[in-house]
Amino acid sequence: MRKILLLLLLLLAIGVVAGCSGEERPVIIMGTSADFPPFEFVADGGEGRHGQYSGLDVALAVRIAEALDADLVVHDAAFEGLIMDLQGGSIDFIAAAMTILPERLESVNFSIPYFAAVQYMVVPMHSEMSTAADLDGAYVGVQGGTTGYIFVSDNTDADVLPFIRASEAFAALLQGRVDAVVIDSAVAQRFVNANPDDLRIIRDNAAFGDENYAVAVRFGEYDLLTTINSVIREMQESGELAELYYYYTEGAGAPRD
Ligand code: GLN
Repeated sequence: MRKILLLLLLLLAIGVVAGCSGEERPVIIMGTSADFPPFEFVADGGEGRHGQYSGLDVALAVRIAEALDADLVVHDAAFEGLIMDLQGGSIDFIAAAMTILPERLESVNFSIPYFAAVQYMVVPMHSEMSTAADLDGAYVGVQGGTTGYIFVSDNTDADVLPFIRASEAFAALLQGRVDAVVIDSAVAQRFVNANPDDLRIIRDNAAFGDENYAVAVRFGEYDLLTTINSVIREMQESGELAELYYYYTEGAGAPRD
C-alpha cells in the first residue's frame, strides 16, 4: 500500500514538472529596423500591432509567432547589422523589407518573396533632377547597407551619405543637407505623402531594378523556413498581405511604379 502511494506521489510530481515545462512558451526574436513605414515603425502613442511596433512586417512576424506557438520579441537595430545579428544568434529571423540579393544569399536563407519593390528618388519639390543620371555629382542620402546604398555607390558618381536610419536620410533631405534620397518605393511614397508640398518622387524604372522582399533565417533552419513560407503563402492566398499593405498605406502606397 505504501509503495503504491509513493508511486502515485512520484507520478504526480513528474506530472507537475512536465506540466510546468509544457507551459513555458518558446520565444522567437524578430530582427528589424523600425524606421521603415509601412513595413516597420514605432507606432504613434506606443500602441502598435505588437508592443510599440507596427507595420506589415510586424503583422507578418505576429503570424509567424502564432504558427510556432511562440512569444514574439522585436529586436530593433540598424538595418546594416541585421545579418550579423542573425548569424550571431541574437535574433531568429529578419523581417525588415529585406531584398533578396545574391550577396546576401551567401550569408542567409530567404523565404519565398512576399513583396515587390523598386528604388525611388525623393527630391525637393523644385529640384531640377529628373532621372537617376542626375544623381551624378549630387549629395545623395541613403540608408547604410541597403539596395539604395549599393545602387548609388556602384552606378553613379554621387557623393553618397549613408545614414544608420532611413528617418535620418529623410531629415537630411528636408534640411537641405542632401539633394536626393534613394530608397524603397513604398517608403518613399509614404514619406512624400506626408510632405506633399516640399518633396516629390522621381521614378526611373530603366535605372533601378525590380526587388523582392523576403524573410531571412540562418542556414540550416529548415523547419523555421518551412513555417515562414507557409505563413506567407496563407497570407497571400487569403488576401491578408494585400489588406495589410492597404491598411498601412491608407491605400496611397505605390509598390512598384
Ligand atoms: N529593401 C532594401 C534592402 O534590402 C532596404 C531595406 C531597409 O532599409 N529596411 O536593402
